[in-house]
Amino acid sequence: MDLEVVTVGNELLLGFTLDTNAAEIARAMAGVGARVARHVTVQDDERAIRDAVAGALRRSGTVIVTGGLGPTRDDCTRAAVARLFGRPLEIDEALLRALEARFAQYRPGPMPASNRTQAEVPRGAVTIPNPRGTAPGILLEGERGTAILLPGVPAEMRGMLDASVVPLVADRVRQEQGTVRVVRSRVLRTTGLAESALADLLDPLPEAAGDVSIAYLPSRAGVDIRLTAGSAPAPEAEDRLNRAAAGLRTVLGSRCYGEDGDDLAAVVLDELRHRGWTLAVAESCTGGMLGARLTAVPGASDVFLGGVVAYADAVKVEALGVSPGVIAENGSVSEAVAVAMAEGVASRLRVHAAIAITGVAGPGGGTDAKPVGTVWTAVLAGKAQRVVRRIFPGGRDDVRRRSAQAALDLLRGLVEAEER
Ligand code: AMP
Ligand code: MG
Repeated sequence: MDLEVVTVGNELLLGFTLDTNAAEIARAMAGVGARVARHVTVQDDERAIRDAVAGALRRSGTVIVTGGLGPTRDDCTRAAVARLFGRPLEIDEALLRALEARFAQYRPGPMPASNRTQAEVPRGAVTIPNPRGTAPGILLEGERGTAILLPGVPAEMRGMLDASVVPLVADRVRQEQGTVRVVRSRVLRTTGLAESALADLLDPLPEAAGDVSIAYLPSRAGVDIRLTAGSAPAPEAEDRLNRAAAGLRTVLGSRCYGEDGDDLAAVVLDELRHRGWTLAVAESCTGGMLGARLTAVPGASDVFLGGVVAYADAVKVEALGVSPGVIAENGSVSEAVAVAMAEGVASRLRVHAAIAITGVAGPGGGTDAKPVGTVWTAVLAGKAQRVVRRIFPGGRDDVRRRSAQAALDLLRGLVEAEER
């Protein structure tokens, strides 16, 4: 089954808002075997919306529209589609009462008059409940085809997509095709290896990965490998993904730290928790970023005790016990200082494992010997220790993020090596 997507909003065309709705809809549709054949964005203009929806219906018979269902004057999707279908807009009394009740619950005073428009529905349409907001969705069917209107706010859109639209489309696909053929994908996450090195490693591809397609997605966090299987019945697509993922993971070994949404900080915390170990950090150029990554993980507190942001040399000395002589001799971005920071925080906070980072994040402060991007990272786990120098590319933010990610990976490697 083919369908089209129309996203509405001036701010999308101006580039102030990223069109995440179109991407989410496309992914959700692929998951139930429907294909998004085309996607367009139009401005908040009744004529533009009407033309886009009319074209989509003419070509594909089904269209999902997001945006322009709000209460303000610029929100005109409802009117545009009602006119296209030749249906008058009518107040839905039950909807109006529900809207008023919702307002009464969240704020004092009467509902603003402009919100009444959100209770207007084209005659003969079905409303799609919106548990997260005021604007309901609208399902309109007629000679022209099927139009599904959803609000623009991503959280509201997503809730209605999952609860109402996905089941509806899945049903139609089933009726149309007998069996539902879906597209499924999975991501294998790696870090510390360049895209080219990874591709060389996986060339030739293991046989098990023969019937999935592979995409390399590099970012500051590492390189994700996306496996996509389709179009096939869901169990077969899952099976192909499982086989391919297992085959690739055999080759990747510990270079792959997780799948899909797995976060490296969570993986490290899990590994330490597994051993009953605690962790502390000493951060110079990352200034707390590592601590923020770790504490963003729910349940971090039984492993992560805390850390010291030792940005100035004086703090490295006072709070971590790094010797001023070692700093004077080696400079604060050095192997000796990274190790002393890790040992200092480990002994002062009495933890089993520690990470220390000291580097030149830039844009200033680089020298020939220590160019911008030079970062020393030391990790300790029990009696084992590793210290590495890396030179990261990019601006200040890139260097800091890459430092935090690489440091987590260094500790993961050390802990896993200790196991063996
Ligand atoms: P609207 O329903 O058009 O009033 O949209 C409400 C808000 O949702 C807008 O201000 C945007 O911030 C957001 N929004 C609208 N359309 C999209 C979209 N396609 N992707 C992501 N956010 C959107
Ligand atoms: Mg709007």
